[in-house]
Amino acid sequence: MLFGTLASCYARPLVRVQLDLEPATHRFTCHYTFRLPAADTSSVLQLNLNRQFQLQQVRSTGAAPPRTTRLFYPFFGDTLQQVTVRFAKGQARRQVELTYAGTLAKGNFAGDVNVLSGHTNWLPFRPYAEYAVVDYELAVRVPTGYQVLSTTAPRRQRAGSYTFRGSTSATELTAIVARQFEQLAAGSAPRITVVKAAAAPGRPDSVLLHKTQDIVAFYNRSIGRQDAVAQFTVFLPGTNHEAYGLLDNAAVITYTDFDVAKREDLLILAHEISHKWWAYGSYHDDSAWLNEAFATYSSLLYLQASGDAEGYRQELAKLAASAVGAPPVLGFDRYQHEPAVFRRVVYNKGTVILAALHDRLGAESFNTVLAATAARKVSTTAGFLGVVGQLAGQTTRDWLLAELSR
Ligand SMILES: [Zn+2]
Repeated sequence: MLFGTLASCYARPLVRVQLDLEPATHRFTCHYTFRLPAADTSSVLQLNLNRQFQLQQVRSTGAAPPRTTRLFYPFFGDTLQQVTVRFAKGQARRQVELTYAGTLAKGNFAGDVNVLSGHTNWLPFRPYAEYAVVDYELAVRVPTGYQVLSTTAPRRQRAGSYTFRGSTSATELTAIVARQFEQLAAGSAPRITVVKAAAAPGRPDSVLLHKTQDIVAFYNRSIGRQDAVAQFTVFLPGTNHEAYGLLDNAAVITYTDFDVAKREDLLILAHEISHKWWAYGSYHDDSAWLNEAFATYSSLLYLQASGDAEGYRQELAKLAASAVGAPPVLGFDRYQHEPAVFRRVVYNKGTVILAALHDRLGAESFNTVLAATAARKVSTTAGFLGVVGQLAGQTTRDWLLAELSR
């Protein structure tokens, strides 16, 4: 019903998910519907799915029965299953439904706390479009006694049943499931919430809350000043695996010993929060630096702004040392190199180039360039060169092109 109403005026793909989760065993069943927007005239739709999941049913509005194959996907360095649907020419409703079952991989749960989010690899996605934005409705059913949180408040909620709606990256729909959550909230704007699953918040969590507020406020007046956020959530599920930012004003920090009193952890927090603004490059070509170098440099800018100029210099020197002899950022093809080279080029060398641009332009002009890049959701290196040319002049644009080609 709702799906029908949403679908009548949509410009982005529409995704509907019905998730049934058994938190104690981490087993789940997912009924997933993907509908192409009218503006997308593709006659073929492909969806990739984690090979570990049992695909129970595939239905589509395609002209022929959907085909399922297995293929190697270089981004994962692993095989996955791929569903292909062909639509008739001019067909109005182009939709695929997948029903699959699986068990969450290690790292996505601790006890009966379960994390289904950006790095869980629990959702289908179009090849090389993991981070394409979709409009979604996520319905989650869990046994009575469990709660479900997401990056937005539930639209509907009753015992064991939750429905969320929003727009985010295709693979970032989020359901965090636990018997109990504890929340810390900051009293003033921007509205920050730290959500802890299973364990009671301690002193490091209050420090985290205040640092998050400080970081978000800093970004709101620097990189994000044309696109400021009013609220941000940090999830601490305690699954002790990794940390990542989500487009929908949230970050997931799973480390159980995370302590932002340490510089290393503070930089991780600042990096992940900044992905709210740095998320539109592709991870499959040289625009990946628009996500990772920009997030890394944003974290260093925060360090500098918080009074740790020495920390800024030390961290930048480490990145510069690692970038020596690395291939150019421009045209970098991750699939032609060992995985470690990706970090040296896309994170480290890219960050060093941004620091040089900062030096060249000065803080005010540099911030203007970053804020415009974020607000315009620039997704290619050529697009960034365009912003620099427009706001900082042709000479600086040419200088930057030379740096990126070096
Ligand atoms: Zn990152």
